[in-house]
Amino acid sequence: MGQFGTEFCDHIAIARYEDGTWQAPAIETLKPLSLHPAAHVLHYASTCFEGFKAYRWDDGVARIYRLHDHIERMQKSAASLRLPVPDMEMLADMVVNLVLHHVDDIPTPPSSLYLRPTLIGTLQNIGAAAAPSTEATLFVLASPVGDYFSGGAVTLKLLVEEQLARSTEQLGSTKTGGNYAAALGPTLDAKEAYGVDQVLFCPNGNVQETGAANFLLISDDEVITKPLDSTFLHGMTRDSLLKLAADNGYKVSERNFNVDELLELVKTHEAALSGTAACLSPVGTLVRDGIEIKVRDGEAGPNTARLQKALQDIQYGLAPDTHGWLTKVS
Ligand SMILES: *Cc1c(COP(=O)(O)O)cnc(C)c1O
Repeated sequence: MGQFGTEFCDHIAIARYEDGTWQAPAIETLKPLSLHPAAHVLHYASTCFEGFKAYRWDDGVARIYRLHDHIERMQKSAASLRLPVPDMEMLADMVVNLVLHHVDDIPTPPSSLYLRPTLIGTLQNIGAAAAPSTEATLFVLASPVGDYFSGGAVTLKLLVEEQLARSTEQLGSTKTGGNYAAALGPTLDAKEAYGVDQVLFCPNGNVQETGAANFLLISDDEVITKPLDSTFLHGMTRDSLLKLAADNGYKVSERNFNVDELLELVKTHEAALSGTAACLSPVGTLVRDGIEIKVRDGEAGPNTARLQKALQDIQYGLAPDTHGWLTKVS
């Protein structure tokens, strides 16, 4: 397998929204999309997506992780962009049919099949900046992916950014392309200036998240993370880890904290980023005002590893799925 996201199964599931309704979805050969140059998405960024994984267990059967929760989040993203909202049943069937079609191409854990439902506005109208796209295309891409950190546990270095926001109040919890465009410039600048891996966006000093992952602080008995609000993406990995932390006796504190508190907390707490691609990645160093601050001793901590294992054991079929997060595909 090549780098994450660069290899694709040779079929997609696709459905079009036309004449006020969703047309019947189909599995098609992967090929370039044909878009009118005036398509709404190309000018006004009417696009959103999802990302989640299917795992093939030893029995040869695939399980999709939190399928319906991800589709529900996509429905919210679509509604916030005033795009046609995909039906739960229809999109779930599209994903399941695509996974079934490619079940033999799913590598075994820790590898998996990454699924990327994407919705784009296709209305042909370059005068529609303030009008919704009443036509749309929904497709699901499938990409076999390996272990994100096959090179072993590395710790990440983050720049603490205290002015810029990753997104906006109205689109922070929408998984939409424009948010990554907004985070890209600051992230590349920070990589060049400080050699960091990511930027931890903390507008007005309030700790939020990085460009594509949520931020957690973890001690021997507590997990701290920002409570849900409209300014950041509500990660399914974050949600899963908080539930597993509670199951394992950790106190779960969903509360806001600022950069000064953060720097106090990392003397005693591990820090980590959560997201579907890498699950839970330890953070070893923060950079604030050009000064490097170690998270504890700068090494990956045991509680981060423990929570990551608790989640992956469920995904890989090594521990019971007590929360009903897996959809068996057969
Ligand atoms: C996708 C994403 C996450 C992680 O969400 P998961 O559901 O855990 O994969 C976090 N932050 C941003 C900005 C994201 O786009």
